[in-house]
Amino acid sequence: KLRNEEIIRRKLHNQVQELKGNIRVFCRVRPTLGDEATHAAEIRFPNTDGESTEIEFVGAADKSALGKETVKTHPFQFDKVFGPAAQNEHVFEEISQLVQSALDGYNVCIFCYGQTGSGKTHTMSSQDGMIPRAVHQIYAVAQSLKEKGWTYRMEGNFVEVYNENINDLLGRVDDLDKKKHEIRHDPKEQKTTITGIETVVLENPQQVNNILNHAQNTRSVAATAANERSSRSHSVFILKLIGTNSVTGQRSEGTLNLVDLAGSERLAHSQATGDRLKETQSINRSLACLGDVIAALGSGKEGAHIPYRNSKLTYLLQYSLGGNSKCLMFVMVSPMQAHLSESLTSLKFATKVNNTTIGTAKKVVKA
Ligand code: ADP
Ligand code: MG
Repeated sequence: KLRNEEIIRRKLHNQVQELKGNIRVFCRVRPTLGDEATHAAEIRFPNTDGESTEIEFVGAADKSALGKETVKTHPFQFDKVFGPAAQNEHVFEEISQLVQSALDGYNVCIFCYGQTGSGKTHTMSSQDGMIPRAVHQIYAVAQSLKEKGWTYRMEGNFVEVYNENINDLLGRVDDLDKKKHEIRHDPKEQKTTITGIETVVLENPQQVNNILNHAQNTRSVAATAANERSSRSHSVFILKLIGTNSVTGQRSEGTLNLVDLAGSERLAHSQATGDRLKETQSINRSLACLGDVIAALGSGKEGAHIPYRNSKLTYLLQYSLGGNSKCLMFVMVSPMQAHLSESLTSLKFATKVNNTTIGTAKKVVKA
């Protein structure tokens, strides 16, 4: 009987997936590092047989109305859940189809959302992360498509959105925060360009290492002890794939956007002043706006207003989020008890992003 219930539950889950269209949310919990293990939160993975989609945080003691200590369980469900043992290699396997669809001309956005220290950069922009893995995979698949007549041009950009300004992470370090870059949309072609930024044409996949190193150098120069720059800005790796087929004459153009978001932790406004306050406000606003945009897209309402223009990040990604685009958000969580409250906030944000069409989905399932 239990087995049947499990099968029904999965079937329903899959139907919900189809109805949700092109938006997915994956959750990843990083492992404890060093001596952190003694202060870890209690985290459960209820259905660990096969594909895991559920995660439960066992909450800190809550004072009930009677003053008794109660412990709450906070269950969440996502399209996939990666526990602390999952390696980047395994995580990439689950996104490689999505990544490859950029070769077929799709626009794809993959985001890492979570508080500082939750594993966003490890997952996305480290030398072992999704960015280099995606480049290698795409290059390999492009090679194999040669026998079908396809040749691809691979163009890379790497920018940062900081305080609602765009900086070129592949440009000169001295230009950071000084050189102005504008977003230009071509509505007819549905194409976006950023003025004055460097484009790297990737002739081989190893070049991605230079790109990552250059970007990291640029950012570390701009960082100060009081201002951990990379946590306070969004980084966007943009890979444009322009394909032409010498046999059929077909053309395709797809863009893969890999986004390492600013830390989602809520800084108390009272603590922040001056530049720090400005940073905090622009991060809060842009993350909220991203959530609103994805939620509006996922609501499936025809003709719904999508508030792209409310932040630089969503404005930049406008043509890669709407229409026929595909979107995946990783919600990253820390395994630490001390971070429980931030983790729950992140998971709730991601649930909001994820569940937008569940209401409609349930109706269809009944019919
Ligand atoms: P964020 O970018 O969200 O601030 P990081 O990616 O820098 O977080 O991760 C914080 C620390 O945890 C780093 O030292 C990183 O190497 C480590 N870390 C994160 N995720 C993992 C993981 N899955 N396995 C091992 N170490 C990890
Ligand atoms: Mg980071």
